Amino acid sequence: MKSKWVLYGIFLITIFTIHYVGAKNQGLQGRIIYLDPGHGGKDPGTVYKDIHEADINLKIAQKLKQELEKEGVTVYLTRYEDYDLSVPNAQNRKRSDLSRRGNLINQSDCDLYLSIHLNAGSSSTWNGAQVFYDDVKEENKKLAEILQKQLSKDLKSKKKATLTNEMYLHKRVQKPGVLIEAGFLSNPNERYLLQKDWYQKKIAKSIVIGLKQYYT
Ligand SMILES: [Zn+2]
Repeated sequence: MKSKWVLYGIFLITIFTIHYVGAKNQGLQGRIIYLDPGHGGKDPGTVYKDIHEADINLKIAQKLKQELEKEGVTVYLTRYEDYDLSVPNAQNRKRSDLSRRGNLINQSDCDLYLSIHLNAGSSSTWNGAQVFYDDVKEENKKLAEILQKQLSKDLKSKKKATLTNEMYLHKRVQKPGVLIEAGFLSNPNERYLLQKDWYQKKIAKSIVIGLKQYYT
């Protein structure tokens, strides 16, 4: 009689484990994601008149945080306001800023990270959201391609996910992650859109759909 209850207990634990592990391995529920809005403070990023890339990066990241939290994701940002992360009197302020972002991400228990940036080109006709990845982690390519496909569809971008090993921050991070250039601040049409709340939200939602696919 006693062994029957032990077997029943094992059965319940097994069901619970399958359910819990299954939920953890699929979908966004329970994930931890680090968002890295590029630049900030003394470093405005790419600039057009008084429009700063750093400000728009942060707005997109904040909207993405909200959308991810709706899906049960724990979200951290490398910065929550308009500042950079360099140590005081750093010899190379930019590198210090990027190193500290990398340390935050490396020391966290995040499943992946996304750097959010805007692009600028020498021609004002250049446009389109683009995802960059490096091969520090094998899964970066898949993550980049899935996000690119969704962003291309939702934002009508013709860009392709692109491999680069020139990203100072990304070379240092031992977690899966990619860099998203959400559009060109140098393109009049995208510049107009990128400043709009509804468009920033559209970008955020597109990234969430992509992440869901990545985890399916
Ligand atoms: Zn940037």
